[in-house]
Amino acid sequence: MIKIGILNLQGDVSEHFKMTKKAIKKLKIEAEAIKVKKKDEIRSCDALIISGGESTVIGKLMEKENIIETIKKEKIPIMGTCAGMILLAKETDHKQPLLGIIDMKVQRNAFGRQRESFEEKIKILGKEFNGIFIRAPAVTRTGPKVKILSKLNDKIIAVKQGKNIALAFHPELGNDTLLHEHFIKEVL
Ligand code: GLN
Repeated sequence: MIKIGILNLQGDVSEHFKMTKKAIKKLKIEAEAIKVKKKDEIRSCDALIISGGESTVIGKLMEKENIIETIKKEKIPIMGTCAGMILLAKETDHKQPLLGIIDMKVQRNAFGRQRESFEEKIKILGKEFNGIFIRAPAVTRTGPKVKILSKLNDKIIAVKQGKNIALAFHPELGNDTLLHEHFIKEVL
């Protein structure tokens, strides 16, 4: 049985938990979603999801739980959304704890004050998807192994490196399980 861990430190963890369960049901596979934060719990997972929230807070809590090295060493596929995207990056425009798993630089709050929160139809994986952006980051540099999955107004909002996926928006806050299903299929 495949275990998809949802990192349970801060942010919209329950929303990811629900969407992951919904995606598992749709895919009709033997898998379970579990909320995790301790080293052993993380080690028992086949994949990990890092939610939206406040990346500085999640980073500090990761340090407190002493799980940054654990997550890096596991080398399991990770999907990070919004704050989770920031945490996956190698660099940001701000000094904060990072996992550095995806070779990219991320700019926090990249869509400016007037547009701190908005919804917009985006194109991803050949489909249209309702992107929910809340003080969203954007990717400003990608390394050679990073594939760009989507852009909005020239800003990079979704990338993939190996099986790791980083999204600037919040698929966990909508109803469409497209991206959760895509991520889970990568783990199978
Ligand atoms: N701007 C937030 C940060 O820097 C991310 C916002 C979000 O996850 N909705 O962590």
